[in-house]
Amino acid sequence: MSGKTEMVVLVTGGSGGVGHAIQTIVEQNKCTDEKWIFLSSKDADLSIEAETRAVFEKYRPTHVIHLAAMVGGLYRNLKYSCDFLRLNLLMNGNVLEMSRLYNVKKVVSCLSTCIFPDKTTFPLDETMIHDGPPHYSNYGYSMAKRMIDVMNHCYHRQYGCNYTAVIPTNLYGPYDNFNLEDGHVLPGLINKVYTAKKNGTPVTVWGTGRPLRQFVHFLDLAKLIIWTLREYKEISPILLSVDEEDEITIKELAEMVVEAFDFKGEVIYDTSKSDGQFKKTASNDKLKKYLPDFEFTPIRQGIKETVDWFIKNYETARK
Ligand code: NAP
Ligand code: GDP
Repeated sequence: MSGKTEMVVLVTGGSGGVGHAIQTIVEQNKCTDEKWIFLSSKDADLSIEAETRAVFEKYRPTHVIHLAAMVGGLYRNLKYSCDFLRLNLLMNGNVLEMSRLYNVKKVVSCLSTCIFPDKTTFPLDETMIHDGPPHYSNYGYSMAKRMIDVMNHCYHRQYGCNYTAVIPTNLYGPYDNFNLEDGHVLPGLINKVYTAKKNGTPVTVWGTGRPLRQFVHFLDLAKLIIWTLREYKEISPILLSVDEEDEITIKELAEMVVEAFDFKGEVIYDTSKSDGQFKKTASNDKLKKYLPDFEFTPIRQGIKETVDWFIKNYETARK
């Protein structure tokens, strides 16, 4: 190693769950010719062009991992559809355009499996993204995310830019958002069971418990995003998912959280609450062609570790 910094990687959304996991993996594999910068919204509001420009001017990145987004679970998405669309379109537009103006060599952005059509066949694969409208429950968020794929192709066609994206399933792990109203199902259930155990009260799972989801640990996704940045050459995105057989119901998920806490109280299902999309089963065939030996964290182990992290960091965790 020459000691000269060859690669300056700017990670937007560096203070979130995925961003923290990337920091952990980068620290484990210290590379002296790389500089990694992890941004939070305090460094720049990326929905504002001038603030985005200032941060690119300051750091002059050669590579960008674009994670920053207005993010939330089903119930936040149902409430703030327009904000999800508007703010995410603004952030994505600003980050990709500044990447072009500052000659960034590669951008990896983050989509989500909720962007796929609602009325479709399963399993979902990378060719199906634009085949029909997404589920109404996260329409604004999904459409903004879909436009990243459109932008990646347009920037490539007109300017030759090397922008791509990953499509993760539901995610979880330390530094997640454990807020009950705004967060996703797994951090929500962890927070609920923690409180129920402490207070000796029942736990309420929202919806019927029947919908199906695939879950990927933040650290697994972090490794795969870094691999995408270094090795993946396509503009078209890649699904980053556990196997189809690893899909579980929300009820099974709730039971795993209960088991991880050794919670002995009652579990209630509030069926007056929306179930959201029934399933979004994704194929990982493309990933397996590239990385046949990649091993995902088993869900029970990942949940136990996240529960332990939440208990230990209860005072400071986002909730
Ligand atoms: P997260 O924990 O909520 O983090 C979101 C990040 O975006 C934070 O660093 C936040 O900064 C930043 N951010 C939000 N608004 C911003 C703004 N206006 N300007 C600048 N930064 C802003 O989310 P995550 O779970 O790590 O998600 C990372 C990526 O994965 C996102 O693109 C998300 O859409 C995608 N994804 C997530 C899931 C999931 O289940 N979590 C599933 C599929 C895809 P501050 O915290 O400093 O405000
Ligand atoms: P989605 O995968 O995009 O729909 O988002 P979520 O991660 O919010 O998962 C939503 C699914 O989990 C729906 O079927 C909900 O009915 C169910 N669910 C059960 N309890 C909760 C909870 O406490 N919080 C959330 N966000 N969802 C819950």
